[in-house]
Amino acid sequence: MREAFAKLIKRLKKSYKPEDLDVVRHAYRVANEAHQKQLRASGEPYIMHSIEVATILAGLGLDPVTCAAALLHDVVEDTKHKIPTIRKEFGDDIAQIVDGVTKISSLSFPDNDKDREEQQAQNIRKMLVATAQDLRVIMIKLADRLHNMRTLKYLESADRIRISRETLDIYAPLANRLGISRWKWELEDHAFHFLMPDVYKNISRLVAMKRHEREAYLEKTITFLEPRLLEAEVVARVIGRPKHLYSIYEKMSRQGKDFSQVMDVLGIRIITQTDAGCYNALGVVHSLWTPIPGRLKDYIAMPKLNMYQAIHTTVMRENGLPMEVQIRSEQMDFIAREGIAAHWRYKEGESGRDDKLDTQLTWLQKMYDWLKDAGSQDNLMESMRQDFSSANIYVFTPRGEVKELPQGATPLDFAYLIHSHIGHHCIGARVNGKIVPIRYNLQMGDSIEILTSKNQEPHFDWIDFVVTGRARTRIRQRLRELGEIAPVEETKAPVRPRQYHVSPKTPPPPVVREVDEATRRKLVRVQGLKGMQVQFAKCCNPMPGHTIVGYVTRTPGISIHRAECKSFARSARDHSRVVQASWEGEGQMLAKIRLVTRNRPNLLADITNALRPLNIDILNAQFGPGEDVNNHFDFQFEAADEGNIEQVAKTVARVPGVFDVIHLGVQKPQPEETPSHAKNPAKKRFKEAG
Ligand code: MN
Repeated sequence: MREAFAKLIKRLKKSYKPEDLDVVRHAYRVANEAHQKQLRASGEPYIMHSIEVATILAGLGLDPVTCAAALLHDVVEDTKHKIPTIRKEFGDDIAQIVDGVTKISSLSFPDNDKDREEQQAQNIRKMLVATAQDLRVIMIKLADRLHNMRTLKYLESADRIRISRETLDIYAPLANRLGISRWKWELEDHAFHFLMPDVYKNISRLVAMKRHEREAYLEKTITFLEPRLLEAEVVARVIGRPKHLYSIYEKMSRQGKDFSQVMDVLGIRIITQTDAGCYNALGVVHSLWTPIPGRLKDYIAMPKLNMYQAIHTTVMRENGLPMEVQIRSEQMDFIAREGIAAHWRYKEGESGRDDKLDTQLTWLQKMYDWLKDAGSQDNLMESMRQDFSSANIYVFTPRGEVKELPQGATPLDFAYLIHSHIGHHCIGARVNGKIVPIRYNLQMGDSIEILTSKNQEPHFDWIDFVVTGRARTRIRQRLRELGEIAPVEETKAPVRPRQYHVSPKTPPPPVVREVDEATRRKLVRVQGLKGMQVQFAKCCNPMPGHTIVGYVTRTPGISIHRAECKSFARSARDHSRVVQASWEGEGQMLAKIRLVTRNRPNLLADITNALRPLNIDILNAQFGPGEDVNNHFDFQFEAADEGNIEQVAKTVARVPGVFDVIHLGVQKPQPEETPSHAKNPAKKRFKEAG
């Protein structure tokens, strides 16, 4: 035990001044004395547990005060020492931490038949309330649990199961929330071992059998990839991503895959020296192997709630097997492994605190504030969710684009966000690879693929469970078109004309209504711009659904005519004054643009942000290496007209890091087109719905 303690001191000496360690020695003396006659279930002196817990914390870089409190963490619970004694000996700070840890230990976490998720949230809440404001309490409790899990085999079987379940339900998710992935994995694997020993042994046996094969495959990949990264001047190391037993099990049970399907997917991690290198590395990877659509996720531009940052992509290997690639900088990697604990390291450094960590601490602070205010248990789950993910959630399209939706949004809201006809024909969705109904409650970070059927049409009850106004408006509109509900005054909501035929076989006539002039004006785009001063020519009275043109009049404004208007053809002599015009949502074409970029962090996010006010739908985006050090970023979007395309081009050209904008052409909509995109199912579905 002296040896163990010497090891702890040695570890702390690496980062802290010798005089700072006095408190640790003092705590050791007190704890050792207090636990003197106690033994662990393993037969070891009890103090060994306290030393191990402190050493686990020191391993994450935590400070001597936290380690001292860790040495004392079981003193109050198990010995005659009480908090006032600790306070007298060690002061308020340590006394409060020890008190917090003791309180958590006295909590009970009931395991009844309630909804597992709700139970989990309640328990985490309970724990956070008990720990008040001090994060160090949670850190000690997690380290305590980790050591208990490492030595769980000495306990009775019933205790092993109870403690393991609690670990999976509370402590592993908590470690995950704090971003400490290495603790999360270890906690999960231990718990898995005790809860399902047979499955655990089976999987670990299979992993061992596959090890040589996998290592050889990995080695080959690294040898191939590293020189190519260097050629592109990306300084990076490539490592294999270990598969944790519990995560293999989860994949197998959740996605219904068998062992080899999970194991065949090689996971690699590219760790670059600089943040900008991540995007260059992505370009290299995508130039070597074909990316699988929808699997690109940019958590650099959009970090996860626990501040995790990386780019994820999945590519198809030459042997037909997918490979998962995670790309992150050394700094991001450090935070990915140690999460909030990384904070302590920076705190000690002279360069001051890291912004991201500050953000994370702010989040925790917010959570505590909420916990203090939280009243009734009834809306606990809802407030918990809101707190964990603010008012809006970010979800991903199959192409990896990020969409923002309000809390409580359903796949139907998402479908209407993409296109009204995808909404009308939506029958469900595949969320993170799993099929879910249209009412499913979307969560932060979900990856959503909408499933459609041309036989599907909106139902009345859809209006009640969608949460976005956009979806609600469009459902009503469609129900009206179908004659399911009576038409209402058209002034209330701007009516958009039907954009596509539902079925090419029996094309229904375009819906053209008598809409009032103000509504009509709102629907007109001139050169792609909305909100222009327009008047409707009396000679032809253009309505949504008609092909239109604009003519710049002498009194400031633009006169809108139907394209076939004879009187316009006669009078409009000055061709320089003829401008393009279209109805909102009509005459959409698919434009493709290439940006020549020098990659830097957040470039994608900045491009997306710049485009946001234009309200365009980006349909497809791809990074690829260009000439020299430049990269190409190609994307497609639905444009109202040429003016709209020009506007998009001008907007993106202003984003720093974009050097050139190249038009790659336009595809006009072809209503009679039969789906012929068999090789791209996502695209096919989109076309089908359109
Ligand atoms: Mn303990």
